[in-house]
Amino acid sequence: MKMEQIVNFCKNYGFIFPGSEIYGGLANTWDYGPLGAKLKNNIKDAWRKRFIQENDNSFELDASILMHPRVWEASGHVSGFSDPLIDCKECKMRVRADNLVNDFTNTSKGDAMNEKELVEFIKTNNIPCPNCGKTNFTDVRQFNLMFQTQRGVTTDSKNTIYLRPENAQGEYVNFLNVQRSMRAKIPFGIGQIGKAFRNEITPGNFTFRTIEFEQMEHQLFCKPGTDMEIYEKYKEYAKKFFIDLGISENKLRYHDHEKLVFYAAAACDIEYEFPFGWGEINGTHDRTNYDLSQHQEFSGKSQEYLDPETNEKFIPYVIESTVGCDRAVLAILCNAYEEEKLENDTREVLKLKPFLAPYKVAVLPLVKKYHSEKAREIYKNLTKKFSTIYDDTGSIGKRYRREDAIGTPFCITIDDNTEKEGTVTIRDRDTMKQETIKLEDIEDYINKRINL
Ligand SMILES: [Zn+2]
Repeated sequence: MKMEQIVNFCKNYGFIFPGSEIYGGLANTWDYGPLGAKLKNNIKDAWRKRFIQENDNSFELDASILMHPRVWEASGHVSGFSDPLIDCKECKMRVRADNLVNDFTNTSKGDAMNEKELVEFIKTNNIPCPNCGKTNFTDVRQFNLMFQTQRGVTTDSKNTIYLRPENAQGEYVNFLNVQRSMRAKIPFGIGQIGKAFRNEITPGNFTFRTIEFEQMEHQLFCKPGTDMEIYEKYKEYAKKFFIDLGISENKLRYHDHEKLVFYAAAACDIEYEFPFGWGEINGTHDRTNYDLSQHQEFSGKSQEYLDPETNEKFIPYVIESTVGCDRAVLAILCNAYEEEKLENDTREVLKLKPFLAPYKVAVLPLVKKYHSEKAREIYKNLTKKFSTIYDDTGSIGKRYRREDAIGTPFCITIDDNTEKEGTVTIRDRDTMKQETIKLEDIEDYINKRINL
């Protein structure tokens, strides 16, 4: 399967469209269509259930995207969140110097080089521009990945604020607010789902890397010394979450980081095997007490927690578990999409877990002229309980195929027996088998089969 197939499928069936398409598109932006929005929301609901509702002592937060600029000084993003970029003097192409070295050597040695070393290495090895093939580059310039904007009417540097490049700082600056208002005792967690923004020039692989993206993040605040055990638990918890979303286990792997940022005690990604290769969909990090210590120093406000049992005061450690929401959507689509060979035919089928399916049930009158009145009535009733779709256009076979392709797990067909005997046939997407059930049993039948 190729990425192109998924991209076309997503566009044709209303899952994902190119951003601002009628204007020629805006690079690395995508819009979720009617089905994509539903799928994404279902994934968010599943995350909420797992990481907040079923997770002891966990609370959801919905923090502001715009934060005090000092937050990003404390977090290190103002000084250190940048890519080393160089421009080709011949064709004006802008590239990442570290990627240029990495691609040329087929290693990751560029990651460890400073600006001078990168320039030297590119010169002495005559690494060519990927666009024009010449070697004539500018010096490296550090390019901060945060989107800046000005608040108020003057464009004074004092008014510079940033679109958040990650959600986590919202949880950190509200750590004590949540702890006090919820009377929370350590260990407890704060999670949130929200958008973050990064001004990356690296091309994206569809929705895998975009300049605007959504994260589902959980920060667990704990006592120093208990952190490694919790870290291991969250590595497994996140993997189990993906498996429960229907992702094949053999398409998932852990990638432990050998090189850690200076404050981290441990870090691991979960990667999914996309058609373009392995890519990170989750990160679990032991961030020690770095974040809260930084905020204590930069804000001048104590971030210590008083243990009510031992009367000990300490700054908690943080175990972060973050899932890229857009990447989870993409992994689930790639994983669920199949071109299935049938006896004399093939069909496109999206084998989504029923709880993730955009529509749980389709209502189809067998013959529009005779059965649509009753079908509309059944449809209206079902919309009160489930995300339901109604379709009376084309042959019944074609309508089944369309529902298969968009992942609808159940199709209900209304025929002569519906009026006469009060029954409908219900068809299963995966087995394509049909059974006859009573009208009053439809709700129960679906309800039993759509839970996480
Ligand atoms: Zn060039």
